[in-house]
Amino acid sequence: MADRELLRRIPKIDVLLAQDALARLCDTMPYEQVRSFARSWIDDLRADVLAGRAQSVPDAAQAAEDVASRLSRRGRFHLKRVVNATGIVLHTNLGRAPLGEAVSNHVAQVARGYCNLEYNLEQGRRGSRYAHVEELICELTGAEAACVVNNNAGAVFLVLDTLCKGEAVAISRGELVEIGGSFRVPDIMARSGARLIEVGTTNKTHVRDYEDAIRDGGATTLLKVHTSNFVMRGFTESVSVPELAHIATAQDPRPLVIYDAGAALLVPPVSVGIPSALSVRAALEEGADVVSFSGDKLVGSAQAGIIVGRRDLVEKIKRNQLCRMLRVDKLSLAALEMTFQTCLNPARAIEEVPTLHMLSLGRPECRERVVRVRACLEEEFPAEWFDVVEVKDEAGGGSLPGVELPGAALSLRVDGLSADELGRGLRAQTVPVITRVRDDAVLLSGRTLQDGDEKLVRTALGAVVRARTGRGGAV
Ligand SMILES: *Cc1c(COP(=O)(O)O)cnc(C)c1O
Repeated sequence: MADRELLRRIPKIDVLLAQDALARLCDTMPYEQVRSFARSWIDDLRADVLAGRAQSVPDAAQAAEDVASRLSRRGRFHLKRVVNATGIVLHTNLGRAPLGEAVSNHVAQVARGYCNLEYNLEQGRRGSRYAHVEELICELTGAEAACVVNNNAGAVFLVLDTLCKGEAVAISRGELVEIGGSFRVPDIMARSGARLIEVGTTNKTHVRDYEDAIRDGGATTLLKVHTSNFVMRGFTESVSVPELAHIATAQDPRPLVIYDAGAALLVPPVSVGIPSALSVRAALEEGADVVSFSGDKLVGSAQAGIIVGRRDLVEKIKRNQLCRMLRVDKLSLAALEMTFQTCLNPARAIEEVPTLHMLSLGRPECRERVVRVRACLEEEFPAEWFDVVEVKDEAGGGSLPGVELPGAALSLRVDGLSADELGRGLRAQTVPVITRVRDDAVLLSGRTLQDGDEKLVRTALGAVVRARTGRGGAV
């Protein structure tokens, strides 16, 4: 059939929307949403016809069925929960840290009504939004003062803008890193008005390199950035925060020592079973003046940038207009306050903060979860589709580079479907299931599955299998 004839047959939007299947859907979904989805379906079909990819065009009733089934499978919301079966705990693309049940309930409660966000209940007048968490952060980190902003990239920028504008800042060439594409340390520094003095080389930076930068380059700040998403191995050397503080203290005037810790942990690493890194508390004790870190990496709470350090410096940061622009919202604060309270008791935190709990799981515990999922799936599907295998999971989110977490996964092979097709099918469900593919099998990692996820996986798999049989093999 000629393209022109095919184009002519594509249903008009009003005809399409008047079909039963879509009219019914409009009872449960906003009309505008159905309309715009139908419009893009038509546009896609037209593009397919013009590109010679479509050999036929369905009639209006069939078309409406197709649009309706895609729409209801997609669900009502574009942003929605998914099942993370990747084994990557802080998956940046999947929203990093999930909140625990108690914290989510608390956030919902604060969201539903008014709250004392910037109201001092005792004095009956304006209060500070930081008051809700500052003391807790200080208790957890030993800091004199603390401040919270929208995210850590913002925190780093705010700190540099407040304390280093027009000043020379020394940083190791090995730490001029890019984190997640749009956060590049040299660019952030340039934008803040700080003058970058690169010291050392990519693989080796020595104490004397910083000393030279202070003496010859006039550096008034020594900045250290945690290399969050890669590890340097081999012939390498870097200068630690305690050493930087030592260098600074020997100078007159003493340069500032600022540390972007990235993914800091608020409980002892041994309790989570991960390699110890320099804690925020230790960095401050050893002489860092200001430290910043993310709220939704190893803290396991809401997206935020947490700034701690010397009182005079933190007060200056709070007075910067940029702080208002980067301010943290009430829902994040509600989550942070409760997470911080929980972290005061590390043993409880490991149980109740999902990120910490998932990180702490050993292979036997991951295997237990996987076995539970398999039992649930085997009630409906043939046992030979499933196999329990060993995998290496990751902390993710640029938090523990190079650290492999021994885990277990359910390996899934479905007759008549390639692993890619199966993965795509599982992703296309109302509650999408995000998986990894290895050796032409889909892997569901036990570590990142939450309680109740097995039922969602079962529903998703059921839909994929039905679609396969319904359409003669294609998903
Ligand atoms: C993740 C990270 C950032 C950015 O933090 P966000 O909370 O994602 O804005 C900045 N610096 C370091 C070292 C990081 O690891």
